[in-house]
This record gives sequence, C-alpha cells and structure tokens, in this order.
Amino acid sequence: MKANLDVQPLHSWIDTGGKPLLIAGPCSAESEEQVLETARGLAAQGIGHVLRAGVWKPRTRPGSFEGKGEEALPWLQKAKAETGLPVAVEVATPQHVELAMKYGVDILWIGARTTVNPFNVQDLADAMKGLDVPVLIKNPVNPDLALWVGAFERIAGAGIKKLGAIHRGFSNAQEVKYRNSPMWQIAVEFKSLFPQIPLIGDPSHMAGKRAYLAELTQRAMDLNYDGLIIESHRNPDEAWSDAAQQLTPAALKDMLEGIEVRQATYGSDFQSELDRLRQRLDHLDRELLEVLASRMSVVEQLGEYKRDNNVAVLQLDRWKQVHGSRADWGKALQLYPEMVEELFKLIHMESIRKQTEVMNQAPAK
Ligand code: PEP
Ligand code: MN
Repeated sequence: MKANLDVQPLHSWIDTGGKPLLIAGPCSAESEEQVLETARGLAAQGIGHVLRAGVWKPRTRPGSFEGKGEEALPWLQKAKAETGLPVAVEVATPQHVELAMKYGVDILWIGARTTVNPFNVQDLADAMKGLDVPVLIKNPVNPDLALWVGAFERIAGAGIKKLGAIHRGFSNAQEVKYRNSPMWQIAVEFKSLFPQIPLIGDPSHMAGKRAYLAELTQRAMDLNYDGLIIESHRNPDEAWSDAAQQLTPAALKDMLEGIEVRQATYGSDFQSELDRLRQRLDHLDRELLEVLASRMSVVEQLGEYKRDNNVAVLQLDRWKQVHGSRADWGKALQLYPEMVEELFKLIHMESIRKQTEVMNQAPAK
C-alpha cells in the first residue's frame, strides 16, 4: 500500500517552536462572542497554535445543530485578527472549500464522515486543485486504513503538499469506554507507511468525555504524535455540540500541564541501556516463535491422529476449555486479558487451518 506522496514537513508551514502542534477551539462556532471569547481565552493561557471551529457540522442525526455556515466565517477572521492564531475549519463539499478560501481560512480539515466516501473526497480534491492550503484528513469512521490512505492519495493528487493526518478513533458498535475506539495500531501502521505525514491525535473525539482526555493525550504523546487537536469552549456545558468532551481554555492548559512530552531521540547514555533491553526483547521474541513452532508441530500430529481416527477438527468443548484455562493462566501472570484472548484466538485459528490441511492429505503409508 506504499504510495509516494510529495509532502512538506509540518514545520515548513507552521511554527510551533519545536513543540507538538496544538489545534484548539470549540467543536462548533456558535456566535461571534463565543468564538472570540474562546480564542481570547486560549491566547490568554498562551496555548494553541491554531484555532479550530466547526462551521458546517456533519451530525449523525438530523435535527441537531448543523453549524452556522458562512455567517460564522467572519467571526473566525476577527478571532484571527485579534489573537494572531491561524484558523482551521472542516470542509465537506466543494462549496465549503470555496467559502473557506474566500474568508481566508488558513487550514482545512476533512471530517471522519467524509473520508469514508471516495466520491466526496474526490470532489474535494477537484475543488482544491491549484490551492496552496494545508489539509488535514481525519481517519474514516470505520477502521479501514486503505480508505484513509486513499483520501491522502486523492488530495495529494490535486497537488496539495501540506498534509496532516488526524487520528480521531473509530466508531464502535457496542457501548465501550470511549466514544470512538482509538485502535492505536491503525494509526501506528499509517505512520509507518507515511512517516513524512504529520500525525495529529484528536483525544476529544476519541474520549467523548472530559475525564478521558488526559489519558488519551498522554498516549498520543507517548506514541510520538506530531500534534493534537482538542476541543475547547468558553463554557463547555452550554456547548451546542459535543458538550461533554470540551474543556475551558484554562482547564485545557491544566490538562496539558499534566502531560509528559517525551523526547523522540535520546543521548548516548540512554542508547546503550536501550540497546541492551532491545536485545533482550529480540531474544525473547525468538524464543516465543520457537515455542510457537513446537506448538504447531504438536498440532500437526494431532491433526494426523484425528484424521486417522476420522474425528472432526473442531471440538467445541475442548476449545472452551482451552480458552478458559489460558485466560486463567494469563491472569495469574498479570497479562492483559484482552491480549491473551486475542492471542489465543489467533493461535486457535492457525491450529484449525493446519489441522484442516492435514485432514485433507492422504495418510502416510
Ligand atoms: C469535529 O472535529 O468536530 C468533528 C465533527 O469530528 P469528526 O469528523 O472526527 O467526527
Ligand atoms: Mn466535535
């Protein structure tokens, strides 16, 4: 899936003084006062490099507040003139792009509900041809890395070089802790495919609730994200959209002060200890694979035995027993239960595959 995208580094288009980029501001622009007061609050706290505000709001259900539209764009201009903060808005149609440009919006982002649709993304790409504006692309609502990558290919194909990826998590069918499941591994995979594209964490839309913002922000920083986009509102409880996840500028500053930003690079003292620990991991991983290989050879013998005695591959009772005992053993070893469960699902799937293969071979004479 490697595409060669021509991307300009983040710091060539925005100066963050070497710190992670922070885009902050309300979920939605609601009124001139609300935008100005929030922007002033951020400036007074000395936080934020960019002011965000949704002007056109893609709402899951009709009847919710759908944004102020064009009317709100001059409010952003005013906020920028007063605070010096460049402004960012979400665009979902060519008309949004045109209006955003007309009112001097500095940065555009494509929302998660737009990234899912290649027709929409292509329309946006066509509308962006010839523009020199940074475009941030949120991950699609469903956990599909290829859709996210495809959106970058389309927008880059229109000649946009100032690109960034926003990881906002993925919608989940069941009621779980976070509003959107982070599925960090998808963002990490994205980063390994496109190390040149800045990765920006959106803890607000992952969390859904203020209480979870700090842990998600810390996680993004621990994974070396290049920046964050966090919703901030002068009076979060009164917000017209996403009230439960927004913070006042002062609370946002407090939250950020509790976050450790770790260095991506390290000095030579750390290097040798790091090398030593990594070597131990290399060694242990090798042993893990050797154990797996031994396990597979027993699986193969078991497959032959079942075949020769005409017994089906899958015995549900046995699988339930395996599942339960491994969960208990993992617990006793203080391993994360979900990891143990996933691991054994994979191992079991592979055992079934192997035994089915053996079943379909003629017995050795
Ligand atoms: C937003 O940033 O306010 C927004 C609508 O986000 P998403 O597209 O991630 O749902
Ligand atoms: Mn929002």
